[in-house]
Amino acid sequence: MDNHFFSEWSYWQQAVIVYITSLLRYLLIAGGAFLFFYVLGRQRWLRFRIQKAFPSNAKIRMEILWSLSTFVIFGCMAVLTAWMSKQGWTLLYTDLTEYGCTWFWVSVPLMLVLHDTWFYWTHRFMHWKVIFPYVHKVHHLSTNPSPWASFSFHPAEAVIEAGIIPLVAVVIPAHPIAILIFLFLMTIMNVMGHLGYELFPKKFVRHGLFKWSNTSTHHNMHHRLVKCNFGLYYNFWDRIMGTNHADYEKHFEEVVDRREKS
Ligand SMILES: [Zn+2]
Ligand SMILES: [Zn+2]
Repeated sequence: MDNHFFSEWSYWQQAVIVYITSLLRYLLIAGGAFLFFYVLGRQRWLRFRIQKAFPSNAKIRMEILWSLSTFVIFGCMAVLTAWMSKQGWTLLYTDLTEYGCTWFWVSVPLMLVLHDTWFYWTHRFMHWKVIFPYVHKVHHLSTNPSPWASFSFHPAEAVIEAGIIPLVAVVIPAHPIAILIFLFLMTIMNVMGHLGYELFPKKFVRHGLFKWSNTSTHHNMHHRLVKCNFGLYYNFWDRIMGTNHADYEKHFEEVVDRREKS
């Protein structure tokens, strides 16, 4: 398929555009959350913190620097996807009428479900002790993550994480705008996981429906305890594979109780 959306720019220009848009999305969402919770509302939100201590400035600087290198990989992966599209290997389309409006909106949650599955299993793989020190250790240097940690990956991990884009393009008929919406939601959820604050109500983790969604506490426990809670958006794979921490719900309720009582 000749894809006009991509063919207007050279591969270099595409890589730079994706780098800049990834950076802007990061600055807007991770930076916005950091400004709101860690700077302007530091006192006001104190009782919402999952771990009482704050990460050091040196840790935050490290998280930002690794994230900046991650966006280089994102740029390269977008170029690879555009190249694959040119070869006719993807289901990317630019004419909205080709699949219709309903499909456009259905494709976004489908991407989230596919990404959740991709993330869980590649994450389990990266925790394999043969792989972990070379690929995933950088992300775990943050034991008390800040929003800036959301893309703090070693380049090898960034390749795996960015692999979702060519995978989506091959598996799901996807419009570039639908992919942009997906990436925006991905960043919001990813920043939530690294927020360091629990905002959800106490009943959330025992509710019939909401218990299937992850919480900030869930991923915060992953950073602190390492060998549990591998999921991204949903608590589906962790539940069916038995990889939630045994005290996940209990710890979540303790965090919320602490904030309600103070
Ligand atoms: Zn991990
Ligand atoms: Zn993380």
